[in-house]
Amino acid sequence: MAAMMDLINELWFLPRNLVSDGYDQALARLAREVPMTIHEYPTGEPCWTWKVPEKWTCDEGFLDSMDGRRIVDVKDHPLHVVSYSLPFEGVVSREELLPHLHTHKTLPDAIPFVFKYYERDWGLSLPQTVKSSLTDEQYRVVIRTRFEPGTLKVGEVLIPGRSSQCFMLAAHLCHPALANDDMSGVAVGIQVAKALLAQKDLHFTYRLLILPETIGSVAYLSHHEDLIPNMVGGLFLEIMGNDQPFALQHSFQPESQPDRCFGSAIADISPTAQQAAYRRVIDNDERQFNAPGVRVPMLSLSRVIPEKSHPNWPYVGYHSSHDTPDLLNEERLREALDAVLGLLRAWENNQYVVNLFKGEIFCSGHNIWIDHQTNPAGHRRLFEIMERLDGSRTVADIAVELDISFQAAWEVVSLLVERGLADLSRKPHPTSPVRD
Ligand SMILES: [Zn+2]
Repeated sequence: MAAMMDLINELWFLPRNLVSDGYDQALARLAREVPMTIHEYPTGEPCWTWKVPEKWTCDEGFLDSMDGRRIVDVKDHPLHVVSYSLPFEGVVSREELLPHLHTHKTLPDAIPFVFKYYERDWGLSLPQTVKSSLTDEQYRVVIRTRFEPGTLKVGEVLIPGRSSQCFMLAAHLCHPALANDDMSGVAVGIQVAKALLAQKDLHFTYRLLILPETIGSVAYLSHHEDLIPNMVGGLFLEIMGNDQPFALQHSFQPESQPDRCFGSAIADISPTAQQAAYRRVIDNDERQFNAPGVRVPMLSLSRVIPEKSHPNWPYVGYHSSHDTPDLLNEERLREALDAVLGLLRAWENNQYVVNLFKGEIFCSGHNIWIDHQTNPAGHRRLFEIMERLDGSRTVADIAVELDISFQAAWEVVSLLVERGLADLSRKPHPTSPVRD
């Protein structure tokens, strides 16, 4: 298995803009890792209220002093020219130039990631330290960019399960020369897909989408409306290789089964993980899936500084030239891979639990007795779980109700299933008598 870091090292520095050769090159490389269908949407194609943008290419981009000294050059770093910058060439006064120069808010020596996909303007990005040194009256700007018809590409890895009900995984690939956001989510996603493809007994069908942020999700969803009713949940992946603890961001429907399942499963998978409500950690493609008319409960998993007020939140280097593979390591990526697979394992197990017994189980007679003298918590938990098995609650419902982990509830449920006292069902199967 190729290390995730190898893939990141190979692809991170490409100028992977929304619709661009750099993006296409990265996606084509990923398609060699896993069986992938590449959907193409041409420039101008309507996607609900959106339209596919033009392909953008930056051939040249630099800033010179009037005596010919090169101050910044896109050849040194793809971030030096604003993504989707208009072309511009000319001699400008310092006053004219400054509003077109972008710097990072908190990292004076970093080049910021700036994009102007829909608000047309020209611009260069550079370290604040360089900008502060610009004291001449005039400068020469050369930005040679091209806007032309192209195709937006979405890579889809299909992992068939027994059911046509589908769980969506997504990661974006459109952040030029940035590693943690977004190559780390892509690398983990590809590895998750490989692991799922190797499993032969999946209930759900899984789809991993690799796409340009926002417009890629809208393009895919608007062209696969027939699939939307089958999408039962989702998880967006990004910012996974740094040292910060995991953050599980819930969906727009916090009472949904994926929310209950992942929310109760994460603590055992990663005890330091934080949880937050929808749009309280970070905004990405999960917005399109959670949106009106789609309403797929899609959560997200990332690694961020827990205090949102931290000046460098979500992590030092975010959206800047400091976001290099040096921030990441294979061990953290591996933990993220294990976390995602652990959540999906819980998801596969999350079924309605149907009692095959009436009354309270004669536990000692069925050899499931937990002594209340030696293990009072275990004894209480066994009874609390048992009394909730009425075919109308899933494992996750029981875990959330009792404020215990998914795994703790699952352990008891699987013991009862093993003893022939309970059954698992994908649909509710209420067993309580109906009274008028
Ligand atoms: Zn981003």
